[in-house]
Amino acid sequence: MNSVYFSSKDIGSIRRRLLTWFRANRRDLPWRRKRTAYCIWISEIMLQQTQVQQVIPYYRRFCKQFPSIKKLANARLDQVLKVWEGMGYYARARHLLQAARMIQKQHAGVFPQDYNAVRRLPGIGPYTAAAILSIAFQQRYAVVDGNVVRVLSRLAAFPGEVQTTGNKKILQTLADTLLPVKGPGDFNEAVMELGALLCTPTAPHCGVCPLARCCRARQQGEPERFPFKRAKKKRPHHEVAAAIIWRQGRILLARRPERGLLGGLWEFPGGKREKGETLEQTAVREVREELGVRVRVRKFFFKVNHQYTHFSVTLNVFHCDWVSGRPRPIGCSGWRWVLPKELERFAFPRANGKIIEALLDSIPRS
Ligand code: SF4
Repeated sequence: MNSVYFSSKDIGSIRRRLLTWFRANRRDLPWRRKRTAYCIWISEIMLQQTQVQQVIPYYRRFCKQFPSIKKLANARLDQVLKVWEGMGYYARARHLLQAARMIQKQHAGVFPQDYNAVRRLPGIGPYTAAAILSIAFQQRYAVVDGNVVRVLSRLAAFPGEVQTTGNKKILQTLADTLLPVKGPGDFNEAVMELGALLCTPTAPHCGVCPLARCCRARQQGEPERFPFKRAKKKRPHHEVAAAIIWRQGRILLARRPERGLLGGLWEFPGGKREKGETLEQTAVREVREELGVRVRVRKFFFKVNHQYTHFSVTLNVFHCDWVSGRPRPIGCSGWRWVLPKELERFAFPRANGKIIEALLDSIPRS
């Protein structure tokens, strides 16, 4: 089978060399020990936006607490979010839970093997579906993630911008062509592993790469020029005020709406500063809008910077005193008065985790 970029001889050689290298060099990762669709699914979802080393402890804890689709389907969202706490991109956790419940209900608790059925599960796009079906069931679906794009665009010295729809399709076709009929899961993993270990974004290890002989970018002498990408837009920055609201030794927490960014997690109420406001005014307004409660700012407590994918924030935290009003879930999905020592029981976004650490450090322990 020829492609625009490689002859059938090249393709055979790429497959052989890559698989031999992979068998000798693959990392021993926990999800590679048990090749069930459940394990691969959980690991692939975690790896979507988190680095391997950070995922390992989360994966172990998650599989210990929810060892099967059934156990996960029967869990409460709070429990799942608590295990996920600190890893970010919490929609992944919510989708896992929804998908487990769907599998339990619609597929009698057995992970589906049909591509369209897998794609209908929440949180599973083309890449994740291809990864699960190829690795768990050896079905011939080629994965194309960031690592694969880098390896393929270097191998072919691909001249186009890799973010455009048309060029994405070309790279997917190239990945489909390279994928062998036998052992497609191993081959997919091998390309990703090469991208993670040798064909790294900067300073690729071409000298020890099994594909060096047929790599066009290497032949041209500047592999790091590939893949071509459009310059990134500058991320917007927001000033945010958050309130630690005190009443008789307890703190008022709000639960974020289940849908949307950080959905279902607990937080100190607050939000973005509006034009012309002081941060103190923002805290008071946001608490009123979110919970229908009046507060008075006592003093500034803490400042923390945090980066999200599409924006960054400076979170300015104030100690506030409750003045009046019974909390109501107006702009949130729930609320709770808690003692400081109870804070660690709740699942918080990472930026709030830093506030809790500083807060508990500032309170003398009895
Ligand atoms: S030779 Fe270098 S650039 Fe080419 S695939 Fe190997 S590591 Fe990547």
